[in-house]
Amino acid sequence: MTRVLVTGAGGFIGHHLTHALTGKGHTVRGVDLKHPEYEPSAAAEFRLLDLRRWDNCIEATKGVDEVYNLAANMGGIGFIESHKAEIMHDNVLINMHMLEAARANGVKRYLYTSSACIYPGYKQNVTDVAPLKEEDAYPADPEDGYGWEKLFSERQCRHYFEDYRLETRVVRFHNIYGPLGTYDGGREKSPAAICRKVALVEDGGEIEVWGDGKQTRSYCYIDDCVEGILRLMQSNHREPLNLGSDRLVTINQLVDIVASIARKRVRRRHDHSKPQGVRGRNSDNERLRKVLDWEPPTSLERGLGETYRWIAKELEKKGGRSSSRVVVAT
Ligand code: NAD
Repeated sequence: MTRVLVTGAGGFIGHHLTHALTGKGHTVRGVDLKHPEYEPSAAAEFRLLDLRRWDNCIEATKGVDEVYNLAANMGGIGFIESHKAEIMHDNVLINMHMLEAARANGVKRYLYTSSACIYPGYKQNVTDVAPLKEEDAYPADPEDGYGWEKLFSERQCRHYFEDYRLETRVVRFHNIYGPLGTYDGGREKSPAAICRKVALVEDGGEIEVWGDGKQTRSYCYIDDCVEGILRLMQSNHREPLNLGSDRLVTINQLVDIVASIARKRVRRRHDHSKPQGVRGRNSDNERLRKVLDWEPPTSLERGLGETYRWIAKELEKKGGRSSSRVVVAT
């Protein structure tokens, strides 16, 4: 049994991770600016702390053996493209203070959650993209703002091991999705946004899709993400590791899968003025398989089924009906 800190425990992945760690018998302290939105936290202790502040980071890391640092100011492509200064400001402060506080309080292991957004734009210019290997990160040309901060904090994790022997682990997530994730308000990612739009539109109606829909991505289900995090933390692997699916789909295919889960015919209206991010992105899982002796097993169809049903139910609770009369969902 380990005393564990999960930061960002009020957020999507942190909430699921807290649940899993508690289930394994660990004593979890959850920290966030807010409580989880959709159900209570499983954490033994939950503290509302702003981790941009040094004194709060010292308080949060006191008396814990391991830190899973998931706190970040982030969102989908619409959000990260339009809040670069705020994102870099907040996340640099969180990650520098958290690492130093963990060292100062004698934390034994520290996991940092990076992102596929650290990969260079020049490797992601086509839809039929080559899967990204961990070493493709350099020469660096990450997503502006959010991606630069992630790459910088990855390096700081490496230096904290080299200089202070703090055992750091770095995971690069590729589009994590699932129930209990943000699905509206502007910070939602593509799978949740599409599930919401399909849930709200009537059979035969139209939904807005950002870009031409031919851009490609891979998507990893939340249960697999949590399993991968736990395996990486226990491993001896100190270099950054991809955690994602390597099944590439277009956004249009994603819409079709969700529509078939919802049993609706859905027309797509493409808005080319909206941000789309890189043209194509996929995860190369060769190292993941080698290091963790495992890879994400959940199919996109099953994962999206769970996600769609949860979002449709949430919308119903809010008074919107999942099969309402909305003919156009944006
Ligand atoms: P999320 O937004 O649901 O959770 C992040 C949490 O951090 C939020 O609850 C937020 O309130 C909290 N937070 C923000 N600023 C804080 C502060 N100053 N002090 C304390 N808490 C603060 O996001 P998520 O999807 O759960 O992501 C978790 C981590 O994984 C983040 O580091 C994110 O960058 C990374 N990541 C996620 C994805 C993905 O697809 N979800 C992809 C790549 C990387």
